[in-house]
Amino acid sequence: MTKEYIKKRVKIVNKCWEWNGYVKSNGYGEVKFRDETIGSKRWYAHRLSYLVFNGNLPDGLDIHHVCENRKCVNPKHLKAVTRRENLMASDTEARRRAMQTHCKRGHIFDKTNTYNQKSNGKRTCRKCQCLHEMVSYRRLLGIKTNIDEMISHFRIGGVWI
Ligand SMILES: [Zn+2]
Ligand SMILES: [Zn+2]
Repeated sequence: MTKEYIKKRVKIVNKCWEWNGYVKSNGYGEVKFRDETIGSKRWYAHRLSYLVFNGNLPDGLDIHHVCENRKCVNPKHLKAVTRRENLMASDTEARRRAMQTHCKRGHIFDKTNTYNQKSNGKRTCRKCQCLHEMVSYRRLLGIKTNIDEMISHFRIGGVWI
């Protein structure tokens, strides 16, 4: 395993080295690599990168993405932290999301308009969810609908059937 092996398998996006190989559904890159001593093993690409560039993988420590880009394997963006520190860092991220008062379309996140409080702190806007449902319903009927067009229609008091 060499630094070149890693470098050949990334795509540089901003300052992140995004893993160009297999990416697991949890967002982390994965690589299957055979080593004389450990045999064949699946590695998280970022852990492997940390190991290759820093020479060791501290025992029992999590590798935290400072850039919050899970695909990233840039050793400068990877920091070995204790499990506790890592949980605290993601807790900060969850808290930041919880501070968001509006969805990306500007609907307020209040008790009635928010649901599916997921463990990762992501919330779903009920109004947007409804709009998405209406759009897919209309598509089912063969009527092409653009969600943002639909919203502006509602704003000016239009009715969609
Ligand atoms: Zn990065
Ligand atoms: Zn919304």
